[in-house]
Formats: sequence, structure tokens, C-alpha cells
Amino acid sequence: MNEEACAFCGRVGAAGMHGHHVVPRAKGGKVIEPTCGSCGSFIHKTWSHNELRDTYNTVEKIQADERFQRFVKWLLKQRVDVKFKTERRNGRAEGKYR
Ligand SMILES: [Zn+2]
Repeated sequence: MNEEACAFCGRVGAAGMHGHHVVPRAKGGKVIEPTCGSCGSFIHKTWSHNELRDTYNTVEKIQADERFQRFVKWLLKQRVDVKFKTERRNGRAEGKYR
């Protein structure tokens, strides 16, 4: 069991914990934050690599986004040991949380 807290939702021991590049590695990102699988999926399906590099390039900026806040509000009510996947349809992120 991984006891690390996700930098985005704050849950400890959540499914799919991994080191997430806040700015994608492909765009020269060097900062790595512990991230759960559910937040990682949401972030990558919601924003493009360019948006992550240019705009949503810190944990604080992602957390300040209204879409992320809605997602976390939902996520905190779910089981911590399940990884939720965000799907993208028609160019827009659509998670189970809607
Ligand atoms: Zn998380």
C-alpha cells in the first residue's frame, strides 16, 4: 500500500499513484508530483500538453480550475482503491463524475 498523498486531490493510498510531470516531460517539464490514477487521467483528458505547459503548469493552477474542483468534489466521495478513468468525446473531457 502506497502511503503517499496525491498532490492534486490529497487522498492517501489512492489507486494508480505515480509521479506526474506537472509540465509534460515532452514539453521540458521537470517538476514531478505524486498523482493518483484518477487525477492523472482527468488532467490528461481535460487539457492538452500545450495547455499544461502554458497555462495549467502548477498544482495550484489545476486545483483552481472549476472543472477540476467539480471532479475532486465527486472523487472524494468515491472509493480510494478504485482508479476512475476520464473519457474524452467530441474533444471535451467527460468523466463519470458528470
Ligand atoms: Zn488524486
